[in-house]
Amino acid sequence: MIVDIHTHTFPDTIAAHAINTLKNSSGMMPATDGTIDGLIASMKEQGIDYSVILPIVTKPSQLETINRVAIETNEKYESDHIISFGSIHPDNTSYRQVCRQLAANGVKGIKLHPVFQGIPFDDIRYMRIVEAACYYNLTILVHGGYDASFPGVKLVTHKEIENVLRDVRPVNMIMAHMGAWGFWEDIIPLLSEYKIMMDTSFALTVPTPTGNDTDVLTGAKKERLDYRKLTNEMFCKMVRLAGAQNVFFGSDSPWNRQDVSADAIRQTSLTDRECDLILGLNAKRLLKIN
Ligand SMILES: [Zn+2]
Repeated sequence: MIVDIHTHTFPDTIAAHAINTLKNSSGMMPATDGTIDGLIASMKEQGIDYSVILPIVTKPSQLETINRVAIETNEKYESDHIISFGSIHPDNTSYRQVCRQLAANGVKGIKLHPVFQGIPFDDIRYMRIVEAACYYNLTILVHGGYDASFPGVKLVTHKEIENVLRDVRPVNMIMAHMGAWGFWEDIIPLLSEYKIMMDTSFALTVPTPTGNDTDVLTGAKKERLDYRKLTNEMFCKMVRLAGAQNVFFGSDSPWNRQDVSADAIRQTSLTDRECDLILGLNAKRLLKIN
């Protein structure tokens, strides 16, 4: 079974615009059209059994709509094996009530993105959301490290992550991009000290660059992240330090193809059992998929 715990889609009415905006800001070529139907087609074609969609509340005012759509998506696309998480902005003071309502409506987790939300991850506003989400048994998936759309922005590095781990001791918190994209050397010492769950998105595979370094809005030259990958050796070392039971397959679709991302894990020197855990069994257990 393959469960992709890290994907993104947009409502049909804004998908084309959202994908174009992100393509411009990140310099990455999308592998789907950004709609849920596009993701379902990708899953069917590429042999993915379940996909978890991770919406992001980038402005506090989006809270209600995004979480309502998440609940509706779970109902509408259950037979397509689509699972949507919800999301909360650090400035949403109703976070506790939101966690309770999401859990009561069967939503399995929330996504937090300190870079898109513009607040350091060890801010008390994040810590209290993490605590509340754990109380309601929600899985928390957090963007880690640099983000292609905001080169150089450091709001969720090993430092902020360690503060949250130490102060909150979250139960089920997954740090995307193997802990923190671009900070892998700094994450390694934390792996033996704390229980850290990680997803594999953007680690072994990197997207196809658009090759366009000009901002279409301003005409200015854009700074781009160099698409550095984790070496297979370092990836395996991190998996063994964290424990394969704590690592979850993610593609970050539409920014990477789901099959290419899954194959990259099989092509490392991990055992078949470790690959099976990472590619699906861990998520099956965590998200209670039958
Ligand atoms: Zn992502």
